[in-house]
Amino acid sequence: MGHPTDSTCIFCKIAADQIPCTKVYEDDAVLAFLDIGPLVRGHTLVIPKGHYATVMETPPEVLAEIAKRLPGLSKAVLAATGAKACHVLVNSGAEAMQSVHHLHFHILPRKGGDTFRIPWNAGKLDSVEGTALAAAIKGQMGC
Ligand code: AMP
Ligand code: ZN
Repeated sequence: MGHPTDSTCIFCKIAADQIPCTKVYEDDAVLAFLDIGPLVRGHTLVIPKGHYATVMETPPEVLAEIAKRLPGLSKAVLAATGAKACHVLVNSGAEAMQSVHHLHFHILPRKGGDTFRIPWNAGKLDSVEGTALAAAIKGQMGC
């Protein structure tokens, strides 16, 4: 009630109980359920009940409601799976591999010796370019 919704959105349909999910947590603002295509055992999605496509479009107070639940949800997923660590990640926009355009946080529990890998091909920050880039971002932030 009071949330923006998109009648074509699969996660809105899940939030409205119109299609099933394997629910692990729910309150007025937030829903968490198991990913239907898990990357690792225990792969969990955390969504706001309201429809916001990306982080960039989500009101800070909605993000804060999710953030408040992330420590407890992450600890619960870790405890239930016997994992010691996790990735908490958001794909935000199609170019960043977002396929469902309703904001969602992935919780991916990790264990020592598991085989899951995220390619992390680190480059090297050029100091001149870094200074210019930081100035551009600061300018956008108005500071
Ligand atoms: P992303 O690529 O970040 O948009 O991730 C979307 C995630 O949603 C994928 O990991 C899918 O497996 C998952 N997903 C899509 N449809 C469903 C569904 N009906 N129930 C649970 N997870 C889903
Ligand atoms: Zn939606």
